[in-house]
Amino acid sequence: GLPLAEADPEVHAAVTAELARQRDTLEMIASENVAPLAVLQAQGSVLTNKYAEGYPGRRYYGGCEHVDVLEQLAIDRLKALFGAEFANVQPHSGAQANAAAMAALLSPGDTILGLDLAHGGHLTHGMRLNFSGKLYDVAAYHVRESDHRVDMAEVERLALQRRPTLIVAGWSAYPRQLDFAEFRRIADSVGAYLMVDMAHFAGLVAAGLHPSPVPHAHVVTSTTHKTLGGPRGGVILAQADLAKKFDSSVFPGQQGGPLEHVIAAKAVAFKLAGTPEFRERQERTLAGARILASRLPAEENVSVVSGGTDVHLVLVDLRHHELDGQQAEDRLDAVGITVNRNAVPFDPRPPMVSSGLRIGTPALATRGFTEADFTEVSDVIALALRPDPDLAALRSRVDALVARHPLYPEI
Ligand code: PLP
Repeated sequence: GLPLAEADPEVHAAVTAELARQRDTLEMIASENVAPLAVLQAQGSVLTNKYAEGYPGRRYYGGCEHVDVLEQLAIDRLKALFGAEFANVQPHSGAQANAAAMAALLSPGDTILGLDLAHGGHLTHGMRLNFSGKLYDVAAYHVRESDHRVDMAEVERLALQRRPTLIVAGWSAYPRQLDFAEFRRIADSVGAYLMVDMAHFAGLVAAGLHPSPVPHAHVVTSTTHKTLGGPRGGVILAQADLAKKFDSSVFPGQQGGPLEHVIAAKAVAFKLAGTPEFRERQERTLAGARILASRLPAEENVSVVSGGTDVHLVLVDLRHHELDGQQAEDRLDAVGITVNRNAVPFDPRPPMVSSGLRIGTPALATRGFTEADFTEVSDVIALALRPDPDLAALRSRVDALVARHPLYPEI
């Protein structure tokens, strides 16, 4: 067949333009990363063609001898990486992993208790318009107004009042670590399952730089493309006694054929996540976030939620700033820095505008940013948020950082 450039010039042009965008700007969306070339190659391989319903050694299709090897590698590497007894690597995404994990443990109408979306939770933890909010009866816990930490007293109070079947610990926008042992104690006290969604911080856990939820939770779900740095996808980890429930919930419960090309790329990512280079990168990820958290609040009317960070992101609080979240996102975009606006706890503005920015360091750490580079990018962000900034001067400082850390030179 023809190569993409000839078969479909329009798609080729947009892909090429996206590569140029990624090369020429600084990616600070906290849920993004830069997948290594080996991950892209595995994902862009002939595995795209293969049907493999079922699991390694028990497929409903012929010709699965090679995908069996790949999927078993992914499973074994994932179990070893996190010290888990069971792993399922087939969920197509983090949302699919959560849907399957919940369907395995819950019946429609059962109660779940999760962190409120407006306080940093994820859509799949019980948002009204999501499957989780439609299928299940939802109770939501919050962060305290005084220190922006998850209010464990409220978690316990709601657990006792609402008697959930499942408690969800995990977040999409929260700059601190959760107390998994305390969540488990509360879950046990009401006979609930504990599910930890470590999508955001899985890479930090793999590197040993964040407490692991695996010893505490009945089930742990994750994405593979955030701090973990692999292909877009989801996984489920659990104790061995619940293995059958989760396998049958993913297939045939929620999905048909697994994406073996993505599973191969997951296997590559799990191998890389066990290396010293990966740990060093996660250390720079954390250092970069701490630099942002210490420098940005020096600006007038800028603070960071909870006063700092223990993870790969900061939540910038602009409730007292002249720019709202949307305007601040646009301002940074104008100097070549990509972030997303985000509600902060107790945000007076609607979510589409919001009063905050979520800024993450994983993609820049993967790109090779040092502490000096993170200091420079923090200062560019701080200056960009001031009234009437010199956008051209800031853009050229971004250009210098971009040039110092070429992206995908091998492509
Ligand atoms: N869980 C958490 C905590 C997330 O932050 C996300 C991603 O936004 C997801 C699940 C969903 O992952 P995906 O976008 O792959 O469905």
